[in-house]
Amino acid sequence: MPLSSVNPANGSVLHVFETWARPRIDKALGQAARMAPEWRDTPLDQRAGLLRQAAHVLRHRRDHFAVMMTQEMGKLLTESRAEIERCALVCEYYADHGAGFLAEEPMPAGELDARLMFQPLGTILGVMPWNFPFWQVFRFAAPTLMAGNTVLLKHASNVSRCALAIEEVFRDAGLPTGTFQTLMITSAEVQRVIEDPRVHGVTLTGGDGAGRAVAAIAGGVLKPCVLELGGSDPFVVLEDADLDEAVSQALVSRYRNAGQSCIAAKRFILVPAVVDGFLARLKDGVADLKPGDPMKEESTLAPMARADLRDELHQQVQDSIAEGAVPVMGCQPLPGKGAWYAPSILDRVVPGTRAYQEEIFGPVACILRATDEEDALRLANDTRFGLGGSVWTRDRVRGEHFARRMACGTAFINAMVKSDPRLPFGGIRDSGFGRELARAGIRAFTNAKTLVRR
Ligand code: NAP
Repeated sequence: MPLSSVNPANGSVLHVFETWARPRIDKALGQAARMAPEWRDTPLDQRAGLLRQAAHVLRHRRDHFAVMMTQEMGKLLTESRAEIERCALVCEYYADHGAGFLAEEPMPAGELDARLMFQPLGTILGVMPWNFPFWQVFRFAAPTLMAGNTVLLKHASNVSRCALAIEEVFRDAGLPTGTFQTLMITSAEVQRVIEDPRVHGVTLTGGDGAGRAVAAIAGGVLKPCVLELGGSDPFVVLEDADLDEAVSQALVSRYRNAGQSCIAAKRFILVPAVVDGFLARLKDGVADLKPGDPMKEESTLAPMARADLRDELHQQVQDSIAEGAVPVMGCQPLPGKGAWYAPSILDRVVPGTRAYQEEIFGPVACILRATDEEDALRLANDTRFGLGGSVWTRDRVRGEHFARRMACGTAFINAMVKSDPRLPFGGIRDSGFGRELARAGIRAFTNAKTLVRR
């Protein structure tokens, strides 16, 4: 089955790529395996230098890559440019800090002279999504390469141009052939790659269905696995919140990237005192959003990445309305070619509605009404997901008390959830397991080996 790149702003086909036959896949696995010992033994400062060079290539060709991303999956050009910059930063972050994170640690053990060291595992496969087509890959690849592993990428089927461009970044930065390779394969080939003895671990960023499939395969062959899956992050507004600030961040968090972010605020949980004020401000903000050509600076809402995803979102919204939720704004596709969906607000999302139970991966804000603060916490945690969450209150102590009790991997007080190279990132429950970024991210695919001398 070929891999098709389609511009979601207008439905035009950009490129159709042939998938690789088995011998070509085998060749890539062989190259990764041959390169692995050489890359492992490349001194850390040289690996760091090559990552800095990758950051340079990214910045130098930022606009070229940004246009490619916008054409292939629809995000606003301004957001694409910012994404390339963030990729450069994560390369520099691990170039600067990688050696420190991997340094041997003395282990106090009485009469024994013991140390802990972090050695690369070999070759790691990354199965990646389309929503941040550069960032998701660099977030995993920069630390994994810095740790001394070789990397294989199976990108989402709709962003093959980006997938090949990322390989080009590392090649042009000077990483030796075989260190980072893009595999032009569909998800049907992923099992064989994970099971291949030349592969030593896998990470998947994507939906929980794909996560379960990959975790089961990895478990069958006892290979380590990191899963960064979906979320339904709560955005809890208490009565003493700064509503202007909360709504301005709510708009960014929910409608950026057409709502297609794992850590977007998806469930807005409001205590009674803020319902009217929050909703009035949110409606004004949503009315100001301008869906339009993502290449143009004046557009502020992008199309969704694929028409089938837009149709799936609309089905979730329609089913939720049939189950009792109340449409306040939008809640329908926009006319014309392409994968457009109106910026939407869905109120009175209650247990039993699809919007309450499922991840809503598009520009639809779901409003949940809590009776009080404790009820807000109960609603926030009443989900099978557990990626991020935020709470809004002028009282920092109260905010911290609330945030500590949220069931998620990252809780923010008075700020929208963001990923940052300096902070560990990941989820619990159906949002996955393992951590990316910071120290945890570079150690994910290492052998934490204990060395003891007497
Ligand atoms: P997806 O459909 O799950 O796909 C993700 C990747 O997995 C793609 O490369 C896909 O390949 C592959 N895949 C799908 N089914 C597979 C299977 N059975 N076996 C092996 N590989 C499989 O997700 P998506 O639509 O691209 O991305 C959206 C989802 O990702 C959302 O749920 C979002 O919340 C989540 N996400 C999570 C994070 C995080 O950090 N936690 C970040 C971003 C996105 P094909 O494209 O070829 O199907």
